[in-house]
Amino acid sequence: MQRMKPLYSRDSQNQSSHIRIGDVLIGGEEVIVIAGPCAIESESQMRACAQAAKQFGARILRGGAYKPRGNPYTFEGLGEEGLKILKKISDEVGLPSVTEILDARDIDLIDQYTDAFQVGARNMQNFTLLKELGKRKKPVLLKRGMAATIHDLLLAAEHILSQGNPNVILCERGIRTFEHETRNTLSLSAIPLVKELSHLPIIVDPSHATGKHALTESMSKAAIAAGADGVMIDIHTNPEDALCDGEQTLRPEDFQTLMISARKVATAVDRFIA
Ligand code: PEP
Ligand code: MN
Repeated sequence: MQRMKPLYSRDSQNQSSHIRIGDVLIGGEEVIVIAGPCAIESESQMRACAQAAKQFGARILRGGAYKPRGNPYTFEGLGEEGLKILKKISDEVGLPSVTEILDARDIDLIDQYTDAFQVGARNMQNFTLLKELGKRKKPVLLKRGMAATIHDLLLAAEHILSQGNPNVILCERGIRTFEHETRNTLSLSAIPLVKELSHLPIIVDPSHATGKHALTESMSKAAIAAGADGVMIDIHTNPEDALCDGEQTLRPEDFQTLMISARKVATAVDRFIA
């Protein structure tokens, strides 16, 4: 059935959506920082990362228990054991959590342990998964596919919205280009463009966009200046020992530095970081 006014569009809803993950509102004046390791590796690793996230002002905890890896011989996550760790640590530090889902068959399981589902770049057009998540009310953090246009991203969101779940947050995480110095190319113009076309909040993942820890802070500031509703940052107490994506991961002290400068940029664009 063709809809004249897509649900994601400003034609269908002019007012910007505010989406709640746990007790945190995304899409309002506050710029939300999500932080945590790429992958949940152990209880002690997750606790150390979560404490650093909380201490320096992150509002939501991230961590993958199901990792989509290009190379099947690398760490693919702890599965349910990881989810249990995530829930325990999330309760312990008092931060709501987001974790990636790869397969629609895992919805009921993951639902028990997290406050939001993350659909990763590799699954942005897994329409079966999107439609199933659309039948729930739990928020979905939908990441842009690495070869997806902005229109493709919005239509992917429409698959969730059209099933009755209005709680979608978009995430720009870079796209594949001919440039090899960075893991992806961060599409900063996607932020104001999405804001023009859609009422949905949009955050930026500078860690996956650049693949380089040295670029995370500047791209976070750029994202906030361009109007992002939040940023999602990979952090780890020992990036060199991380089982996944250590090169793009910040140490707690570098995360602290990022937070200090990100706060200034948020203030400069009439927003704030708590
Ligand atoms: C992630 O956030 O852990 C991840 C796998 O990111 P992406 O889907 O953007 O590659
Ligand atoms: Mn990763």
